[in-house]
Amino acid sequence: MVKVYYNGDVNESALQGKKVAIIGYGSQGHAHALNSKESGVDVIVGVRKGGSFDKAVADGHQVFTVAEAVEQADLVMVLLPDEQQAKVYQEEIKPGLKAGNALVFAHGFNVHFSQIVPPADVDVFLVAPKGPGHLVRRTYEDGAGVPGLFAIHQDVTGTAKDVALAYAKAIGSTRGGVLETTFKEETETDLFGEQAVLCGGITSLVKAGFETLVEAGYQPEIAYFECLHEAKLIIDLMYEGGLANMRYSISDTAQWGDFVSGPRVIDARVKESMKAVLTDIQTGKFAYDWILENQANRPQFNAINNNENAHLIEEVGQKLRAMMPFVKRQEKEAVNAGAK
Ligand code: NDP
Ligand code: MG
Ligand code: MG
Repeated sequence: MVKVYYNGDVNESALQGKKVAIIGYGSQGHAHALNSKESGVDVIVGVRKGGSFDKAVADGHQVFTVAEAVEQADLVMVLLPDEQQAKVYQEEIKPGLKAGNALVFAHGFNVHFSQIVPPADVDVFLVAPKGPGHLVRRTYEDGAGVPGLFAIHQDVTGTAKDVALAYAKAIGSTRGGVLETTFKEETETDLFGEQAVLCGGITSLVKAGFETLVEAGYQPEIAYFECLHEAKLIIDLMYEGGLANMRYSISDTAQWGDFVSGPRVIDARVKESMKAVLTDIQTGKFAYDWILENQANRPQFNAINNNENAHLIEEVGQKLRAMMPFVKRQEKEAVNAGAK
């Protein structure tokens, strides 16, 4: 079995006397800054002027421009959007890095795909909670923690692993368990998971089911409940106790349907497509296309996003959720916390 690191495995003194600069105050940034501050770490925030800057000030942090924060820091945690990181790194982070500093990420994309090539005299590692930022914050406040991964890319001080684990503890992740990985494995599995299963897979599955029912003449509202709304209830059961726990709770009819029809829908062709998606990630094709799409100011991203937002499932969902205040409250909470 792989080693899982918990609070008791951490040498907390590894972060003592170090100033930590959280760069970016969005979904991950606000959670890392607040959690580590409450864990006793000396934290400052570096972000551009605007909404995030104001929020960080309102949350009680010492807030600076990115360059000013890097200048003062021993550990620089880069929590900017992945597609912005290379530019901000060149202009505002790299000039302020000093020998022996730690340059830290929550996702390996830019280092793994060579968009950021750190200097040879700094430690480089990643600490990646496996969950959205608002949950990293909320679970910490509840006394628990979102599990995470860490990986060492460069260890010039000989202390990178101790500092990475101390950081993971400060944000709450060693309460839930932290595993060691590599930049390559974290980057490729994170991209694959969100594309094939968590984000791309689920949205496409939900939409295809909804469209199939609506095209067959059923009411869109019924299709919405069957294909989207109930998905949360099923996922919660899987989260709590795996597939068996979910199957224990559903009717035997539903379970029989799961066994005979599930593999007909997600069949060998789907798995072949998943392998093709993984190949594009491994060869750098996905990264290349996404980097160029950003350089072109996102014409495809925006067009697809507009089409998706105009889908019937969104229109129907908006009306139905307006009549379910308990659902609406959670939506508001997620938006307030900067979740996307
Ligand atoms: P967000 O988009 O939520 O936040 C980005 C922050 O960076 C905002 O505060 C934004 O400020 C600021 N910012 C953007 N551009 C600049 C700039 N040019 N100069 C200075 N500040 C800037 O990012 P995420 O938290 O989603 O992602 C951060 C990292 O965490 C990424 O590497 C991501 O892969 C990783 N990650 C994210 C997870 C998630 O759940 N979101 C999960 C695990 C890892 P402003 O408000 O002004 O735009
Ligand atoms: Mg990701
Ligand atoms: Mg049913």
